[in-house]
Amino acid sequence: MGAPANPFVVHVARLRHGHGNAEESAHVVCRGEVERAGPLREAGIDPGRSVVPAGAEAEVEVTVRPFEGGVDVEGTVTAPWEGICRRCAEPVSGELRLRVHERFADAPLAGSTDEDFYPILDDALDLAPLVRDALVLELPMAPLCRDDCAGLCPQCGADRNEGDCGCVAPRDPRWANLDVLR
Ligand SMILES: [Zn+2]
Ligand SMILES: [Zn+2]
Repeated sequence: MGAPANPFVVHVARLRHGHGNAEESAHVVCRGEVERAGPLREAGIDPGRSVVPAGAEAEVEVTVRPFEGGVDVEGTVTAPWEGICRRCAEPVSGELRLRVHERFADAPLAGSTDEDFYPILDDALDLAPLVRDALVLELPMAPLCRDDCAGLCPQCGADRNEGDCGCVAPRDPRWANLDVLR
């Protein structure tokens, strides 16, 4: 058995060189695992960051339109994410849905300009780098389990979402001298 086929490869030869009966655009949906997007340590998820979970699938749904020397790719990338609440350290998860609009170009065009183009190789696009780049940029930084998460008590470590632990914040030491004067 060979390596599993990359589910994000799209063949565009007919779309680009269809001679008369060519479609003007194609609707493409690909679904598969992306290489882990986001920083992940052996011990777990980096606190304050989020990742696409291992084994989870991302979906890309795009319209592919040829232009001279390349193709224009526009649509959405959807993927689940998980992380750790930055205040209480509880697991948090959600789904990202991102708009993407990128261009793929034949090697000479891609090479002659900046990195605004992804390469077309043998009239095939690999959407996986596009999907990964979009996710890495947009994965939530420092997620919260909920907007009003009360976090952990700095004195006793209790989860303050589960109730008042009874701790009283220590007095600011700068006021101590004033107390003495009184
Ligand atoms: Zn929280
Ligand atoms: Zn406490």
